[in-house]
Amino acid sequence: MEINRNITVAVAGAKGRMGQEVVKMLQDDPTLTFVVGIDPKIAGQDVGEVIGGKPLGVPMMNSLEEALRTYKPDVLVDFTTPHHVYDNIRTSLAHGVRPVVGTTGLSPEQLAELTELSTQSKIGVIIAPNFAIGAILCMKFASMAAKYMPHVEIIELHHDRKLDAPSGTAIKTAEMIAETRKELKQGHPDEEEIFEGARGADYHGFRIHSVRLPGMVAHQEVLFGATGQTLSIRHDSINRESFMPGVQMAIKAVVNLDTLVYGLEHIID
Ligand code: NAP
Repeated sequence: MEINRNITVAVAGAKGRMGQEVVKMLQDDPTLTFVVGIDPKIAGQDVGEVIGGKPLGVPMMNSLEEALRTYKPDVLVDFTTPHHVYDNIRTSLAHGVRPVVGTTGLSPEQLAELTELSTQSKIGVIIAPNFAIGAILCMKFASMAAKYMPHVEIIELHHDRKLDAPSGTAIKTAEMIAETRKELKQGHPDEEEIFEGARGADYHGFRIHSVRLPGMVAHQEVLFGATGQTLSIRHDSINRESFMPGVQMAIKAVVNLDTLVYGLEHIID
């Protein structure tokens, strides 16, 4: 892969949990230059001070539009909220800035529209529901196993500040499983939920369960069952640093793209 030098990067959500990790990662990579942070409630302060550290000489702005117009970054990294991510990507494309997006919660319709917009404008986009390499492998292994063991359930576990359920990773895993799994409706045909939701969400006849607890970061277990045997594939992100090599890789890859790529697996292959 061609490595681009001095890629300038803006970070939307720079004050958030993931945004702060991205800011640290950018500081440590001499080939990437952090130029502006965006957060809707803060303007005019230095990003370093906002996140409780030394000044970085990088301003925080509250308008994405103004930040992109003023600093003209090569790439916008977005770790914001499911409510803002769609508009942020559209704004970024309108300014010719390539988005690298970790925020989850985009609907299939929004993804389709953004794919079309990216193709039309020839501006690359990377959207990855999970930037951790281990999580990508978990999805791939689950997809391989589903061909041979079609009885499967996904359990995803996250911290209790997460807004969307199921997680973007679980949805992507389910999509990849559905591509290889023989379609069938699992469970007893007469099963009844005593409490609504007890069996989780139905996706093409198999179930996805979402757990939300303080103390969790991002975890997923894919369980397979067959006669006399089970198989568990589990991935745990134990801190948010686990996502940073993937974000770094995506920033360097997106500058060479002119279409939308959904999923880091298409970049690491
Ligand atoms: P968070 O701590 O709540 O951070 C979100 C930040 O975005 C907050 O500082 C928020 O500011 C700010 N924000 C809200 N609207 C904005 C806008 N329009 N423009 C710019 N900034 C805005 O959340 P997080 O834990 O960092 O997670 C962020 C997203 O990343 C979630 O969707 C999460 O599921 C996803 N995530 C993805 C991965 C991956 O690998 N793809 C990994 C972990 C998390 P205020 O608090 O002032 O509103």
